[in-house]
Amino acid sequence: MTNPFQLLGISDDVVNAVKDLGFETPTPIQEQSIPVLLEGTNDFVGLAQTGTGKTAAFGLPLLELIDFKVTKPQALILCPTRELCLQIANDLKNFSKNVANAHVVAVYGGANIMQQLREIRQGVQIVVATPGRMLDIIGRKAIDFSNVKYVVLDEADEMLNMGFQDDINDILSTTPDDKKTWLFSATMPAEVRRIAKNYMDNPVELTMGTKNTGNVNIEHEYYIVRARDKYAALKRIVDFNPEIFAVVFCKTKLDTQDVAEHLIKDGYNADALHGDLSQQQRDKVMQRFRERNMQLLIATDVAARGIDVNNVTHVINYSLPDEIESYTHRSGRTGRAGKTGISICIINSKELGKIRQLERIIGKQFTKAELPTGFDVCEKQLFSLVHKVHNVEVNVEQIDQYIPRIMDEFKDLSKEDVIKRFASLEFNRFLDYYSKAPDLNAAVGDDRGERGERGERRGRGSEGYTRLFINLGSVDEFTRGDMLSFICNNGKIAGKSVGKIDLKGVFSFFEVEDDVADKVFEGFKSVEFNGRQVRIEKSGDGGRGEGAGERRGGGERRSGGFGGERRSSGGGGYRGGSGGGDRRSSGGSGRREGGSREGGNAGGGFRDFSGRSRDEKGGSREGGSGRREGGSGERRKKW
Ligand code: AMP
Repeated sequence: MTNPFQLLGISDDVVNAVKDLGFETPTPIQEQSIPVLLEGTNDFVGLAQTGTGKTAAFGLPLLELIDFKVTKPQALILCPTRELCLQIANDLKNFSKNVANAHVVAVYGGANIMQQLREIRQGVQIVVATPGRMLDIIGRKAIDFSNVKYVVLDEADEMLNMGFQDDINDILSTTPDDKKTWLFSATMPAEVRRIAKNYMDNPVELTMGTKNTGNVNIEHEYYIVRARDKYAALKRIVDFNPEIFAVVFCKTKLDTQDVAEHLIKDGYNADALHGDLSQQQRDKVMQRFRERNMQLLIATDVAARGIDVNNVTHVINYSLPDEIESYTHRSGRTGRAGKTGISICIINSKELGKIRQLERIIGKQFTKAELPTGFDVCEKQLFSLVHKVHNVEVNVEQIDQYIPRIMDEFKDLSKEDVIKRFASLEFNRFLDYYSKAPDLNAAVGDDRGERGERGERRGRGSEGYTRLFINLGSVDEFTRGDMLSFICNNGKIAGKSVGKIDLKGVFSFFEVEDDVADKVFEGFKSVEFNGRQVRIEKSGDGGRGEGAGERRGGGERRSGGFGGERRSSGGGGYRGGSGGGDRRSSGGSGRREGGSREGGNAGGGFRDFSGRSRDEKGGSREGGSGRREGGSGERRKKW
C-alpha cells in the first residue's frame, strides 16, 4: 500500500524517516500545504496553530527542494525562541536522517556562538535561527546567504510581538530577491498582514481552521470565583483532575513564583517558568515537565513561548492575558497532535465581558463550569485511586516472596477491611482537607466581601498562624524563597509551618503556625545578617503593625487569591488574610522588587521591543536567556 506521504510527493528516504517517528497519515495542515509548497514556485502564508504538524508541513517539502549535493545554505528558518529553534532543527534532522549529506544547524542565543560558527563553517544547507543571534552571525560575516532559495518565518506573529521586525528586515535583506518566503502564523494581526504584503509576491494563502480560531480539539471553560478564592479554585480544579498535566498561566513573574511556591508547599508537583530564571534553570524546569516528572508548570506568557510539549491535558488561565491574542497562544499548548485538551479560565465576575470577547474572536463558545464540591473531589480522587489499584501491573516474581508475610499481617482483617484501609490511606488526605470546603463558585456580579475582607483582616495573621515582622526585605536581596529558607534555618522549623511571606523593601512580614512562633523567636535571638542584628517582632507590636509597615512600604496592595481553603498540612486554615486585589501591579504599589509586570503593556510598545534585541544578544554573549520577557505593545489588541 502506498504511504499517504508518498502520495503527497515525498520521497522514500524521507517517508521512511517520518514513519520511524510514528507519522502514519499527514495532519490536515500537511495534507494541504505539502503539495503547494513542493512546487517551490510560490510565496506562502499559512494560518495555523502550533501543534498541528506545522514543522513537517514546511520541513518535508524543503527537504525535497534542497539540493543536498551543494553544501551551502539554501533554506533559512526564522522562529521566535530558542526552544522552538531547537525543536525545529531537531525535527528536520530526524526527517532528513536518511538523506545523504544533509546538514541542519540551529542558531540561537544563550549558547556558545563558537560552536554554532564552527558548524556553519563545516557546511550546512538548512539554518534554523532566532533573529538576534542570526543577525549577530551575519554581522560577523560568518555566513553567506546568496544561495538561499527558501525563507520560512515560523510563528511570525510571535516574532513581531517580540519586536523582531527590524531584525527580520535586516536578515532578509541579505538573502536573494528571488527567494520564496513561507510564513506561518497562529494569528493574523495587521502587522503580519503587512509583512506578507511587503515581503511576498502574490502568496498562496491557506487557513487551517478560520482566522484566529482556536484549535478544534480544545474545549474552553470558565469558572467564576471571587478574587480571593482563585488559588483555592485552582487547587480544586487540579484535585478534581488526578491525571492533570497542565500549564498554568499567570500574568507576572511574581504571581508565577507565588502560585508555584504555594502549590509546592501544598504538596503538588509544580514549578515556575519565568524570565528571571537563567537559561540553565529554565532548561531544567522544562526537562522535568517534558519528562512528566512535574504535573503543573506555572508560566508567564513570554516564558512559555515555544513550549511544545505534547499531551498537555489542560491550560489554566490563572489570570487572563493582557492581550486577547495571547489567549490563542496559551490555549494552543494543549490539544496538540490530534489530542484533545481543555483551556480553563479562572475569572471574577467582572471579567465575564472578556470571555464574551474571546468567544467572538476565536469563534467558539466557552462553557461556564461549576467548581466541584469537596465531596465531588473526594469521590473523584477515591475512584482514581481505586482504578489505579485495580489496574496496577503486579510484578509477581518480585512480590511473591513477600506475600506470605503480608497475608499474615492481614490475617485478622476481612477483605472489606483491607480495602477500606488501602483506600483511606491516600484518601484521608483529601477527606481531611475537603471536609469543610466552602462553595467557591461566585455568582455573576458577586464581588461581595472583597474590600471588606481586605480591610478587616489587615494586621492579623491567617487563622492558626502568627504574623511576624522581620527587619529584612527585598533590598537585602531576599527573594521569597530565600526568606523561607532563612526562616526555616534560623527558626529551626519546617517549611510547611511557614504561611504567607510578604516581602517588602527594608522589612517583611511572614506567618508561622501558632505553635512554632516561640521557637522562631528563640531561634532568631542572636542572628545577624550582613553585620546587622536581625529583629523579629509580632506584627502589630510596638506600632509596627501591618498598617504602619504598609505606609512605610508605599501602600502596596497584596496579591489576592492565596487562601480560602485549608492547607493540606492540616494546619488550621489558610484564609485569605489580607488577600484582595488580584493584580499585584495595580494599586499604585511603591514596590520595586517584583511588581514589574512581565509581558505587560508597560507603555510605549515599540520602545519595549527595542530593548529585546539587546537582551537577546546580551543573552547570547553572557550565556543568558537569549530570550526576552515583556514586549507586548500597542500593536496588539487589548481587551
Ligand atoms: P508541530 O506542530 O510541528 O510542532 O507538531 C506537533 C506534534 O505533532 C509533534 O510532536 C510532531 O512530532 C507531531 N506530528 C507532526 N506531524 C505528525 C503526523 N503526521 N502524525 C503524527 N504526529 C505528527
